[in-house]
Order: sequence, then C-alpha cells, then structure tokens
Amino acid sequence: MTLQSGGLTIETARFQELAASVAEWATACRRHLHAYPELSYQERETSEFIAAELRKIGYQPQTGIGGFGIKVVLQGGKGPGRTIALRADIDALPIQEQTGLPFASRKEGLMHACGHDVHTAVLLGTARALRELQPELTGQVVLIFQPGEESAPGGASLMIKDGVLENPHVDAIFGLHVLPSLTVGQMGFGDGPRMAAPDEFDLTIHGKGGHGAHPYATVDAVYVACQVVNALQSVVSRNINPFDPVVLTVGSIHSGNKHNIIPGEAVLQGTVRTMSQPVREQVLRRIQEVADGVCVAHGATATLEVRTGYPVLVNSPGETALARAAAATVLGEGNITDMAPSMGAEDFAFYLQERPGSFGRLGAAAPEDRERAGLHTPRLNLDEGCIPVGVAYYLSLVQDFLRCP
Ligand SMILES: [Zn+2]
Ligand SMILES: [Zn+2]
Repeated sequence: MTLQSGGLTIETARFQELAASVAEWATACRRHLHAYPELSYQERETSEFIAAELRKIGYQPQTGIGGFGIKVVLQGGKGPGRTIALRADIDALPIQEQTGLPFASRKEGLMHACGHDVHTAVLLGTARALRELQPELTGQVVLIFQPGEESAPGGASLMIKDGVLENPHVDAIFGLHVLPSLTVGQMGFGDGPRMAAPDEFDLTIHGKGGHGAHPYATVDAVYVACQVVNALQSVVSRNINPFDPVVLTVGSIHSGNKHNIIPGEAVLQGTVRTMSQPVREQVLRRIQEVADGVCVAHGATATLEVRTGYPVLVNSPGETALARAAAATVLGEGNITDMAPSMGAEDFAFYLQERPGSFGRLGAAAPEDRERAGLHTPRLNLDEGCIPVGVAYYLSLVQDFLRCP
C-alpha cells in the first residue's frame, strides 16, 4: 500500500502505531530484565520471565533450546510461505552498574551493560504487535531468545545444534544491536564482513632455567618471550595485506618469581581479531612459525594453544538491502546510516554461517546525551525510545520479507 497520508504511507503509520501501542509494556519488560540481570549460561530467571510474558500474549514458547533459549513460531493467517527468524540475546555482564536509574540492577556486580535487555524488549514488543498483523501474513515468523552471547562457545551455536533453524526451516535470519553512539531514530546497515572473529592464544616458551648469575648456562625464557613479542608485531605489519584488518595483541606475559632466578618457562596470552577466514588462518599459522623461528634461534621451543572464537560476522547483500529498505520505510531514508565494521565480535555470526541474513545497528542514545557511555561500561544508559523504533523496523521487515516470492 503506498497511499500517502501526511507524508507517511498508511503502512508506515500503521507499523508506528502498532509499535507505539506495545511500547509501554515492552519498556516495563525491559526494566524488569534490567533490574535482574543474569550472566551467560545462567539466565534461568530471565528465560522464565520471557516465557511467561510470551504465554500471557498468547504464544506457546518452546523452552530449553541450547540451554535457556526460547523459540516461538507464529504461523501467518494466510497460510504457509517463507520463514523469517528474528533473534534477541538475553544475557548480562559482570559489571557493577553506576547509572543511578530507578530500575538499576539489583544484583551486586551484574549489569545489562550490553543492552541485551533492550534487544529482548524489542523482540517481546514485536511478538505482541505481530499478533495484530498475523491474519494478513503468509508464511512463518520465528522469534529466538538466545542465551550466552557474551561467552564462548556462544549460545547461538548451541541453539543451532538444538535445531532452532529447523521446524520450520528458517529461510533468513535478522538481528540488531543497540549502539550508544547512534541517536534514537537512526539505524545502521552494511553487507559483507562487519564484525571480527576473535581468537585467543596461549603461547608457552620452554627454555632452561638457572642461576641469575650464570645466564650462559641457561635458555632464558624471559628474554626469548620478549623477542617473540617483538617479532609477532611483524605478522600484521609485514605478512598481511594492509587492506585486510587484523589486530594481534599480547595482553599478558607471565614468567619467573625472583630477581636472581632465570625462569625456564614463559607464558604469553593474546587475542587475534580478523575479518576473513583465510586471513585468520594465515595469522594463526604465522604466530606458530614466528614463535618457532625465534625459539630455535635461542635454543628454546614454543607450544601454541588457540581457542577459536566466534566466526567473522558476514551480512548477506540481498537481506541487508531488504533490512535497510524496511528500516527506511519506518524511519525515513535520512535516518539510515552505514554500519561501520568493528573489531568487536558477535555470536550472531553463527546463524549467518547457516542462513542468509543481516545484523544491524539500532540507535539508542538520547539526542541530548553528551556522555554516550559505551557498551560494557557501568554508566551505559540507553534511551528507551529505541524500543518502539526496533519494533516498527521488525514489523516492516517481516511484512516485506514474507511478501517476497
Ligand atoms: Zn557485549
Ligand atoms: Zn551485545
């Protein structure tokens, strides 16, 4: 429908009205979740709360998927068709909140400092508003409330293993993340690699310890570790194409315990962040080669342990264009920005390995908020006006997606 009414299409106004009608309830849900945060893989009460609210608005949630994950399926009133999935993450972080909000965390040392309470509220609001659209939809909508985004192995991978993308078979999946640097009423989209693969490594240097007065009789693990750290800097600066973003950080060195003892072992811990699988493999291979080479030069050996993190998050072009257009429908083209790539990581990447889809940014800062405290900080204070914005976007997206042949 493209009839104009006061500058908005009738459809746009309807999505906005529907979103506004559930905003108060969704915001109350958000405040409850914010007051009672739970860490990754411990989201029992969060999950029970979400399931209870979904039952109140007429859904039969499937619980216990990949841990505390929840799934609901909405069957369109006009019969079967394509299936779109929308996902919210539900876990919180070990941070002591310092916002002073009336609904601030009541749990010592725990806080929804990544905005997952808002993501959950947006999806709950969408669930409620979709009941109004249900009679005119063809196809299925799957809503996924996912635990464990903040910690390995990633709740997304566990829910996928438990079959969340089947029954019905999901054709495409979409998600969003609040962004405190973007103002409420704006969203950001971009296709291709948008978030990094974060891998951790432990590199142990094995030398030969001895008396601090007789270094010639030892293989000094501290000295070799220093050489390795320096040499590792060449991996990014001399091995990788400068158009491929890479971070290689050594964040800790542990060795020795006294002034006059040369230690025989040193342990380096670090993180590698890459934006493509070939570069990821190249960097990890080079860490081993550089460490081995430096160690051989000094008579030491190295063992490398790598814990691979989430995959690179790659948004598919077609679904990103669809998402962007759906957002422009409700927000206006002028409020859509490009989603800048980030070396942060997000387990939504697992879904995008299985299905096409797109992960976008939801502006969440009040226009007058000068501080704009960042994600994962104790003063993060998101503007709840972003909740109906997210709902209106999802309604627009669902309608557009299910209409496509
Ligand atoms: Zn986070
Ligand atoms: Zn997050």
